[in-house]
Amino acid sequence: MGILNFTLKRVAPAAAATSLATWASITTINDDWDDYFPPQTEDSKEERIVILGSGWAALSALRKCASPGKSVVVVSPRPHFLYTPLLASSSVGTITLRSACEPLRALVDSAATKASSASFVRADARSVDPESQTVIATTDSAGTMLHLTYDKLVIAVGAQPNTFGIPGVSENALFLKEAQDSAKLHAKLLSNLEKAAALIRHTKGDQYKDEIERLLKIVVVGGGPTGVELAAELADFAGNDVATLYGNDISNKIKIVLVEAMPRILAPFEESLADVARQHLISKGVDVRTNCAVTNVDQNTVTFSPATPKNATPEEKALAKIQISVEETGALVWAAGIGARPLVKKLATKLKQQDTRGLKVDENLRVKGCNNVYAIGDAALSGYAPTAQVAAQQGKHIGRAIRDGVDSPFVYHHTGSLCCLGSDNAIAQLVGSSQSTFNVWDLIGADAIGPDQRALIGTPAFVLWRSLYFTKLLSTSSRFSLFTDWTRSKFSGRYVQEPVLQRQPTLIPEFYGTDLKRNSTIKFVKEELKTQVAKKKRFWIV
Ligand SMILES: Cc1cc2nc3c(=O)[nH]c(=O)nc-3n(C[C@H](O)[C@H](O)[C@H](O)COP(=O)(O)OP(=O)(O)OC[C@H]3O[C@@H](n4cnc5c(N)ncnc54)[C@H](O)[C@@H]3O)c2cc1C
Repeated sequence: MGILNFTLKRVAPAAAATSLATWASITTINDDWDDYFPPQTEDSKEERIVILGSGWAALSALRKCASPGKSVVVVSPRPHFLYTPLLASSSVGTITLRSACEPLRALVDSAATKASSASFVRADARSVDPESQTVIATTDSAGTMLHLTYDKLVIAVGAQPNTFGIPGVSENALFLKEAQDSAKLHAKLLSNLEKAAALIRHTKGDQYKDEIERLLKIVVVGGGPTGVELAAELADFAGNDVATLYGNDISNKIKIVLVEAMPRILAPFEESLADVARQHLISKGVDVRTNCAVTNVDQNTVTFSPATPKNATPEEKALAKIQISVEETGALVWAAGIGARPLVKKLATKLKQQDTRGLKVDENLRVKGCNNVYAIGDAALSGYAPTAQVAAQQGKHIGRAIRDGVDSPFVYHHTGSLCCLGSDNAIAQLVGSSQSTFNVWDLIGADAIGPDQRALIGTPAFVLWRSLYFTKLLSTSSRFSLFTDWTRSKFSGRYVQEPVLQRQPTLIPEFYGTDLKRNSTIKFVKEELKTQVAKKKRFWIV
């Protein structure tokens, strides 16, 4: 009994205090992120590789550089890899975002089986100090700073939308760069459709004609592959799903405008192919405007003016300024170019590089003026187009260089360009020999359009587009999900659930309650009506 008392009164508190102290000291020791960077001993041979980004370039680099003797850390605010070519489809519900987003953990774990260690830190890199070989990153807006030292650094942070300083774009436009942009656009389209449907069905005469027209007008700025693919998806959505679910009176009122400042759309493609795409879009009712520039964007309006070339005379510029037209729009999507991320601009300025649109690199993709720092993908000024194809090849090249400890010049192998035009149509410009008398290109009907260039149009190109992007997905689970999405939207229509974002409160609740079967707002309306009726009853009793 005496021993038990002694144990309870003296030994137990002492043991508890010791455990607490041990726990406190362990957590104090660990607060310098040693979990990610185990302290290295003097004779440690491990090379610390830090990769900034979780996109095309970063993941290709990770997969190749993961090897014995490398301790790899991937730093990115985005915990998934985003399959950008599928973004246009997800913004109209042809597919779900689940198919386009690959969780990073599994990919990093797989790299860890080949490297000494591999881990992921969900953080935003804020600055790079090439002198001390340190990256400063933050995990939140509260200012928690991580100092990550490296032996080799790979900057693969991509780029961000470029608004070219046009007033109102950053505040009022929608973008198509990240998964949340696509969800936001999907939500906006569905919300505008609901509002328009309510106004059409529950108001009399032409009282809200202008508002309905505004809600159903979508302007896509940028006639590159992203803008064209989005306009095509929107036209398909309007012609099929909107017609089925909301009726022809709404579907016929949808106006899609594709705006391009250059004389033609799809600059990376041969003119004849770009023309096929243009004709196809026009046949689907898209208003394709070339030589047209956006000069201002407000909440509900967009200002257009004739685009002037860089060498235009002051008179021509002055004339363009007075030829402006202001149009109302329900959604404006900005897909008109990319610019450098703040981290890239900061480092380029620090290194006194003249052009801060990206990081200038040498032929081995090393950042000029830095030791042991590489820049790849859209973050680099390497002389190649900002495409996933370039980013992935550069990532592989740098991954191998790090793995083997040998730098070598990067050589890009272009395999072709594809652009999906919806409705089982696409265009493809492929690299293929036109010399041999018989080859596979002839077999699939790809005509020669120049030396070593082949063109494929229509359904064969669409099949190629789908097969290629399907096989290039990073996991079987994503392939399964994409296959399910495509099959589902083919046979039972696109997804029209509004993504769960913060709902816009309506100022006119009485307009809700359309006769749509799948209208998520019906429940809300019924409840709203119930409370209104209850209030009235109470009024009568009083
Ligand atoms: C809608 C759309 C469709 C496209 N379709 C095609 C196509 O069909 N074919 C094609 O070849 N190209 C296509 N592209 C272009 C292609 O997606 C890009 O060229 C490619 O993504 C560039 O790869 P990246 O790795 O350099 O950048 P990204 O893939 O953009 O990845 C950048 C990564 O860096 C992370 N990051 C950002 N800031 C920081 C920071 N401060 N610290 C750490 N990490 C950071 C991001 O979260 C992201 O994970 C398309 C682009 C878009 C937007």
